[in-house]
Amino acid sequence: MLKANDPSLRSWIPVSPDSDFPIQNLPFGIFKTAHRSPRVGVAIGEFVLDLVAVAEFGYFDALNINKKVFGSDALNDFIALGKPAWRAVRERISDLLNEKNMALQSQKEARKQCLLLQSDVQMLLPVRIGDYTDFYSSIDHATNMGKMFRDPANALLPNWKHIPVGYHGRASSIVVSGTPLHRPKGQLKPADAEVPTFGATKLLDFELEVAFIIGKPTKLGDSISTAEAENHIFGLTLFNDWSARDIQSWEYVPLGPFLSKNFGSSTSPWVVTLDALEPFRVKGYTQDPKVLPYLEYSGDRNIDINLEVSILPAVSSSGVENGQETVVCHSNYKYMYWTMEQQLAHHTVNGCNVNIGDMMASGTISGPEEGSVSVSGNVRGKFCRRSKLIYQPAVTAFPRATGFSSFSSPNFLMTHSCTGISSGLSGIQLYGFPFSASCASSLRACVKPDPFRKPSFSSNWNTFRIMRSRSCAVSPRRTFRSICFCRE
Ligand code: MN
Repeated sequence: MLKANDPSLRSWIPVSPDSDFPIQNLPFGIFKTAHRSPRVGVAIGEFVLDLVAVAEFGYFDALNINKKVFGSDALNDFIALGKPAWRAVRERISDLLNEKNMALQSQKEARKQCLLLQSDVQMLLPVRIGDYTDFYSSIDHATNMGKMFRDPANALLPNWKHIPVGYHGRASSIVVSGTPLHRPKGQLKPADAEVPTFGATKLLDFELEVAFIIGKPTKLGDSISTAEAENHIFGLTLFNDWSARDIQSWEYVPLGPFLSKNFGSSTSPWVVTLDALEPFRVKGYTQDPKVLPYLEYSGDRNIDINLEVSILPAVSSSGVENGQETVVCHSNYKYMYWTMEQQLAHHTVNGCNVNIGDMMASGTISGPEEGSVSVSGNVRGKFCRRSKLIYQPAVTAFPRATGFSSFSSPNFLMTHSCTGISSGLSGIQLYGFPFSASCASSLRACVKPDPFRKPSFSSNWNTFRIMRSRSCAVSPRRTFRSICFCRE
């Protein structure tokens, strides 16, 4: 086991047991403040460790690395140092934060310069993303979709168990959690209409996904084997694949989604390293039929990361968040049929090159068990005066899903995305937006109340939706956080 992963480690920084950022996690991100330029940070408890400051105080002197990489506005330069450097930096930080180590702990001025409250910093997009690929690798999700939209007896398409199906997405519109998105407009053609009309989407949702970030490039013509794949992956983020389904259903034949997806995707600001996730490796699906040799792999390559989506209601007419959070679904990253290693091997088997910072998302992650959706509460939305959307928790029972589950109010319908009869689910659909776009729901994926700063709302209230999602692993939790604002 890597030393930094030792579950017995404790930090001298107080970290709540509920925190997503115990000393065993130490995810990397980019932040700035009013007085500090964009730079690399590492999360610990409610703090962020400023790696520029840590380097300036000489704490990285023993590591043979170029400290300039920490002063960048993206992790790419740091990632380019290579896996031994990522590992050495994380181990060194783990040491510095260890309760038994006085080097930083005892230095008041250094502590003050190196540690900032997360609530006092602004998180930025963690990497410069050259290319973005979205897979479709959850068998339960693909099966549920097939049952709902095609033939229940032959839910999976013939290629699905042979190929990690994917498509190339749009990198330019990937934004960090918290960045407002605009409600997309496009061509809409309801099933009963003869010709399309133009307008704003009425069927927007996001797919709860996990994305991995490429950490080692390849040259055009090169391929990455499943055995080598892990050395090409820096870490994981949570990824919200926003999707306008009414635009998608009209445009997607024959080449797949286009404007229904490329208006925006959200990623969490913190990148959890593969190293940190090593203790959570679990066995994957038995793949039957047997895959082609270039897709074979050995060992436990799936990762046990709990995923939940909850709704954090509501915004009152005064704009204050005042609701209770309600978990509406559970899933787990371990329910991936195709592993990251297989995805990357397949992606490059034809010689397609990859670059540092490329993002590859999993596809919607649904689980196999009927009970893997545990709806712990109920949420109902309705519009009140001035078009503010208010959620009222625990009004009606949330229907268990077979097919789309939904409940509605006159203007609002919320639907699980893609649940089907087995409902590990992973996504939420909000139908029927308020057109004056006032506010606000919040989706997020985590069990615990948000220990961080509440999202700030725009003063002009044209933010009509806040989607928030987060995922965390089994104890000690590993976390990705993603907040998204969506506005008309
Ligand atoms: Mn997707």
